[in-house]
Amino acid sequence: MSPGGLTRHPSPGPVRPVAPPARGAPPRAILAAVAHPVSDMISVERALELLLGATPVLPQETVPLGAAAGRVLAEEIRADADVPAFDKALMDGFAVRSADLAGGARDLVVVREIPAGTDPATLPALATGTAARIMTGAPLPPGADAIVPVEETEAASGDRGAVRCAAVRPGDHRAPRGADVRAGATLLAPGDFIGAAEVAVLAACGRAAVRVGGRPRTAVLATGDELVAPGETPAPGRLRNSNGPMLLALAERAGAVIADLGIAPDDPARLRAAMERGLEADLLLISGGVSMGARDFVGATLRDLGAEILFERVAIRPGKPFTAARRDRSIVCACPGNPASSYVIFQVFARAVLRRMAGHPHPGPSPVRGCLAAPARQKPGRAGYWQAHAALVDGRLTAEILPSSGSADIVACARGNALVVLPAGTGTRAAGEAVDMLLLDDSFDR
Ligand code: AMP
Ligand code: MG
Repeated sequence: MSPGGLTRHPSPGPVRPVAPPARGAPPRAILAAVAHPVSDMISVERALELLLGATPVLPQETVPLGAAAGRVLAEEIRADADVPAFDKALMDGFAVRSADLAGGARDLVVVREIPAGTDPATLPALATGTAARIMTGAPLPPGADAIVPVEETEAASGDRGAVRCAAVRPGDHRAPRGADVRAGATLLAPGDFIGAAEVAVLAACGRAAVRVGGRPRTAVLATGDELVAPGETPAPGRLRNSNGPMLLALAERAGAVIADLGIAPDDPARLRAAMERGLEADLLLISGGVSMGARDFVGATLRDLGAEILFERVAIRPGKPFTAARRDRSIVCACPGNPASSYVIFQVFARAVLRRMAGHPHPGPSPVRGCLAAPARQKPGRAGYWQAHAALVDGRLTAEILPSSGSADIVACARGNALVVLPAGTGTRAAGEAVDMLLLDDSFDR
């Protein structure tokens, strides 16, 4: 398996590196479409390897706990104390000496009340034949070894200061000191993703601030003479920019700090100016202008800007003309303009770049195994990433590949929650066959 790459795929072939021109070199390729021999097309695995190999891990920083969710932990977190720090009641009820109830239910004299927050050191020992009314989370008094829940008690007949308790076993409804966590135990490790539960662990350990990986700044630029902003009505022949907002949403939900560079026309000078701005970010996401058309200027402009082209064509469907480059510590992912292509390229490649930058130890896509709901067929030659709806069917993760009119069909992406991955060599797959799939975590609740 290639580091950070997809598992269970054939090993990648060699790639011919493309040398960058000197910074400020004349825009020699700008007016001529560059011919791409078929051999330039590299596998998804090789492309991921090249891309992640070129992607720097951002410097770490210390953030307040309230800003830690969604980041990658950069330090080891150890318990600073036992949890619970004292023998603790797990139910509202009565703390008792279980031996007092060995013969079955009996009346016990209620000697005190112990609310949560009581200092255990202030509690006198519980005498034989007595009970203490206790709240969930409160410390047991010395001598008490179990809780009789309120539901298993009733008022004692006659004595108003007593309670009738059902029998209990030693330890019932009590958490001994250190039952959850022992002081000094490692709870979280560098590289752990900080979700809500990790935030709680950090808080429980008294961490008001925590060291985390960097948050990638990501600029998004849509290119195309035909594009208008989503708020506009397109003139005949034009269409609304849907990739820009989509890539911004994807990047933000993947943890990036986003900057919207809007739309650049297919004009070398204006494209260059917009891309120059975008190269101030850690990751520049571009849509459009990477195909073979006479007005696809993105690749040539990247060269003109002194970027090193990592690759320009990947054996992936959709998304073949995906171009990746780096300049200094910035990475460029230039996606084909077709919306489903941009979507897939983000899911497979740009997300991995963001994860690497943020310090994830395993930034590449991590497919899960599931089975196909219906037969699938694809043309050999490129790995297919098919929009799918995944759900548990009879206890098995099952993916239904969604109907799609092609790589412009963003509505199919909106309906899906997963991508079924069929490797490049695949022809037909039968219904029920096991396949890899990427669960798209920002849409899996659909
Ligand atoms: P291109 O990769 O520039 O050749 O564009 C391929 C197709 O995607 C064309 O039909 C474009 O009109 C369309 N397209 C390009 N950019 C966008 C965008 N930002 N939003 C929606 N569609 C786009
Ligand atoms: Mg275009």
